[in-house]
Amino acid sequence: MVLGLLLARAGVAVTVLEKHGDFLRDFRGDTVHPSTLALLDDLGLAESFARLPQRRVNTVQLPLGADGSLVTVSDISVLPGPYNYVAMVPQWDLLDLLADEARKEPSFRLRMSTEATSFLVERGRVTGVRYRTSDGRTGELRATLTVACDGRGSLARSRPELRLRQFTCPMDAWWFRLPRRAGDPHGLVGGAGDGFLTAMIDRGEYWQCAALIPKGTDAERRAAGLERFMVDFSAAVPWLADRAHALRSWDEVKMLDVRLDRLRHWHRPGLLCIGDAAHAMSPVFGIGINLAVQDAVAAARHLVEPLRRGAVGLADVRAVQRRRWPTAAATQTLQRFAHARVIAPVLAGRPPLGNARWAERVSELFTTAPWFRRVPAYFIGYGAMRERPPAESVR
Ligand SMILES: Cc1cc2nc3c(=O)[nH]c(=O)nc-3n(C[C@H](O)[C@H](O)[C@H](O)COP(=O)(O)OP(=O)(O)OC[C@H]3O[C@@H](n4cnc5c(N)ncnc54)[C@H](O)[C@@H]3O)c2cc1C
Repeated sequence: MVLGLLLARAGVAVTVLEKHGDFLRDFRGDTVHPSTLALLDDLGLAESFARLPQRRVNTVQLPLGADGSLVTVSDISVLPGPYNYVAMVPQWDLLDLLADEARKEPSFRLRMSTEATSFLVERGRVTGVRYRTSDGRTGELRATLTVACDGRGSLARSRPELRLRQFTCPMDAWWFRLPRRAGDPHGLVGGAGDGFLTAMIDRGEYWQCAALIPKGTDAERRAAGLERFMVDFSAAVPWLADRAHALRSWDEVKMLDVRLDRLRHWHRPGLLCIGDAAHAMSPVFGIGINLAVQDAVAAARHLVEPLRRGAVGLADVRAVQRRRWPTAAATQTLQRFAHARVIAPVLAGRPPLGNARWAERVSELFTTAPWFRRVPAYFIGYGAMRERPPAESVR
């Protein structure tokens, strides 16, 4: 949607296909990072965005303490400028805002309930997609450039020449809601239990809860009973214990498969992959949305001119990967480190970082040297490389 808006504002004809009839998916993550807040400001959307329901979060906490206690590893409030926080906004509200804004451009079309089903390929070049609508109609859409921003289950991943590289992930996520009450904490709150980690996202009326469980243990844990999980959960998050019974059946607990992978090639003639389609991100640090948005901004900047000319060469799409690959690879390396050295040991009931003394030292460093938290704060806030939108899209 970000890429569609930026290109349409620059006068490029864009059609966005979305397979669902609305944006009401609740498992996308709600984080809008400083880089995206600054982008919305550049696009003249800061005021409309400020009117959306939101909570502000400044800190990220990980269970690095020797006893699994939470340590602040990143304090975004120390960053300079007005956007020194992460806004927690239901993603459907943000997407609706972007869609409404893009629809003001005569060259923009959004086709909801329309699923891309395969690529059109002519003489080795992708020339568009075949699609199917929710009422069963099918058709073809031709394009100078097709951008796959269809997430980690991307259609582009069916193309073996793009070469998917997968990394091991120690966890999956359970996703469920619990009621929120006046007097509860605000923002993003974490916790560590016996064999699981939790994160609660403040969505105003309710808590969107995530529980990270060891990969592949979903069926076995469900078989142990909901009551057992609720007892463990209440022990890990005592301030929510009085509402644990609000969860009545396992049907209310969705299992989200966590993946971390990356395409070696994000492009082929006529095709570019960005966001999770190019590099599926783990929920660790909550930065996948930031990366996807920044990919879109970089893609718009590199592609406006060739798209206006109506001729996008391999060098143009390659330039986008060259620009964005280092950030994606560096971020995934950090996520892999957190998976291996923090999440996997904690889920297995061992101290993070190999031994309790190390964990204590690092935890001390984060606690006693606030400057140490600046590096992850900048990384989470802006990513390794900050992207600027094309001048034509700025308002
Ligand atoms: C459990 C979990 C929690 C997470 N929490 C966070 C978080 O808090 N913060 C954060 O920054 N990141 C988080 N992430 C990572 C984040 O969700 C992704 O990195 C981010 O959503 C990627 O954005 P995207 O636009 O590339 O893909 P997506 O958000 O997956 O969007 C893809 C879109 O394409 C549509 N689509 C798919 N296939 C087709 C098709 N064939 N035709 C038409 N439309 C199609 C989908 O309906 C969807 O709207 C989390 C990930 C997981 C697994």
